[in-house]
Amino acid sequence: MSDKNFKIMLENALGQLDRRTFLKGAAAAGVVSLLGVRPAEAAASAAKVKIIVIGGGAAGLGMAARLRRKLPHSEITVIDPAERQYYQPGFTLIGSGVYTPKQVWHKQSDCMPKGVKWVKKAVIALEPAANSVIVTDNEKHSYDFLVLTPGLQLNWELVEGLSRKTLGEGNVHSIYDFEGSQKMWTAMQAFVAQGGRGIFTDTYTKHKCGGAPKKICLLTEHLARKRKTRESLTLDYFTGSKQLYDVPFFTPRLEEIYKERNVSVTTRTHVTGVDTAAKKAFLKQTEIIKKEVTDPLSGETKSVEESVAKTFTESYDILHLAPPQSAPDFVRQAGLGWSEGSLAPESWVMVDKDTLVHKTFPNIVSLGDVAGIPTSKTSAAVRKQVPVALRNLLSLIEGRAPEAVYNGYAACPIITDYGHVLMAEFDYDKKPQISFPLSMFDMSKESRMAWMLKVYVLKPLYFYGMIPGYW
Ligand SMILES: Cc1cc2nc3c(=O)[nH]c(=O)nc-3n(C[C@H](O)[C@H](O)[C@H](O)COP(=O)(O)OP(=O)(O)OC[C@H]3O[C@@H](n4cnc5c(N)ncnc54)[C@H](O)[C@@H]3O)c2cc1C
Repeated sequence: MSDKNFKIMLENALGQLDRRTFLKGAAAAGVVSLLGVRPAEAAASAAKVKIIVIGGGAAGLGMAARLRRKLPHSEITVIDPAERQYYQPGFTLIGSGVYTPKQVWHKQSDCMPKGVKWVKKAVIALEPAANSVIVTDNEKHSYDFLVLTPGLQLNWELVEGLSRKTLGEGNVHSIYDFEGSQKMWTAMQAFVAQGGRGIFTDTYTKHKCGGAPKKICLLTEHLARKRKTRESLTLDYFTGSKQLYDVPFFTPRLEEIYKERNVSVTTRTHVTGVDTAAKKAFLKQTEIIKKEVTDPLSGETKSVEESVAKTFTESYDILHLAPPQSAPDFVRQAGLGWSEGSLAPESWVMVDKDTLVHKTFPNIVSLGDVAGIPTSKTSAAVRKQVPVALRNLLSLIEGRAPEAVYNGYAACPIITDYGHVLMAEFDYDKKPQISFPLSMFDMSKESRMAWMLKVYVLKPLYFYGMIPGYW
C-alpha cells in the first residue's frame, strides 16, 4: 500500500469514520491489531492552564496533539527548533539501502498540531522551581505544567578522535545520524566489494534502539552473501553490555544467528577512541571478577565482585559505532536527572517509572528517550508512554493523583537479513509482550511478516498515527 493510501486510510479510520468501517479497512491491510482499539478517551476538560512541551519528536508531538484535543481552553506551546520530523527507525534502512533519505522525513511545519503555539527555538535553560524555560536569544517562557520530551543527546566527542562533522573519515560510520546513515550505505557497498575487517559496536551508555548497531552488522553480512563476497570479510561485534541481547525470550535465537553468520561477539567492550588515519579503534573491556575477601575482625570470608578494565587496539577496514548518549545538557544543568543509581551518570530524567511524573516536580511529566526509566529507548515504547503520561497530566491538572501505569513496553524490530526481522516486544521485566496477531506465531524467531511490518507499515503509522496523537 502506498504512503498516500495508508494516510487516507488512517485519517479516515482514526478521525472521521465510525469504528466498524475503519476496522474493515484496516483488516484488509492486515494491521488491525497493531493499530489497536483505542481506549475510550476522557472528555475534554474546561481547565485553563499553560503547558509547555519541550521537544516535538515522537513523544512531544503525540502529547501536544492529544493535549490540544483534551484541553481546548488551555495554551499549549511546543518548543523545538527542528525544520524536519525524522522517522529515525528509518535510518537503519537508509544505511542498508532499503529506503532513500527522502523517505524518512516530513516538514516539521506539516507535523505540528493545529491550534498549538510553536516556538521554533532551542531550550538553553530550565528553571523548574520558577516554572520557566529559557530559549535561544534569552527569551523566557513560563508554564503551569511541563512536558519534557527533548529526546537524547549524542555525545560524539566522548569517543576520542571523533566528531559528528568528521563522521565518515577513516571509514568510521554511524547510522545514529541522518547524514551518517547515507555515508554508511555508500561505505557498506564499497566494503562488501573490497573485503577486509568490519568492526561493529554499540556503546556503554543507554542508547536509543539498542538493536540498531546489531541490525546494520547483520545487514552488512547479508549484503556480502548476496553479492557473493562473504568469504573476503571478517566481521566482529563488540557490545558494551554483558551479553548480546538481554531479553531472554529473544536472546538465544539472536546469538544463534550471530554464530550461524560467523560474526564474533565480544561483551563488556566499547570504543574509547579512533585513529582515523591509521584505521585503528581503541577499545576498553571491563571484566567482573569474583574475589574471596576475609574480614580481619570477624575472620569471615565472603565473595565480592570487582571490575577490572583492560584496553586494546584493533585494526579495521570499516568501523560502525553508536556514540555515547545522555540527557541534553540543559536537563542535567536544571537538576532534573537522577542523582543516584545507574541512571544518574547520564542524567536521565528522574520520573516515576509507572506514572512518568517527575519525582521532585509534580507539574512535570517526562517520556521518550530522555526519561530515566529502565526500558528500551524506542518509539514503540513512546507509543505506549504517551497515553499514560497524558492521563496522568490531566489528573494532575484537575488536582487528582496520577493513576495510569506504564508497564515498560518497548519493541525493537531486529532486522536479521534483507527480508527477515526478529520482532522483540517486551516489558520492564523483560517478559515478552507480543502484540496480536503476531502473538499467534512463534515470535522467538525472525519472520518475513515482521519484515513487511518494519519496512512498509510502521513508518506511515508513525507519521499519520503516532505524531497526530491517534495511535
Ligand atoms: C538508528 C536508529 C534506529 C532506531 N530504530 C528504532 C526502531 O526500529 N524501533 C523503534 O521503536 N525505535 C527506534 N529508534 C528510536 C526512536 O527513534 C526514538 O526512541 C524516538 O524517536 C524517541 O522519541 P523522543 O520524542 O523521545 O525523541 P526524538 O524523536 O528524538 O525527538 C526529540 C525532539 O526534541 C527536539 N529537541 C532536542 N533538543 C532540544 C532543545 N534543546 N530544545 C527544544 N527542542 C529540542 C529535537 O529537535 C526533536 O524534535 C531508532 C533510533 C535510531 C537513531
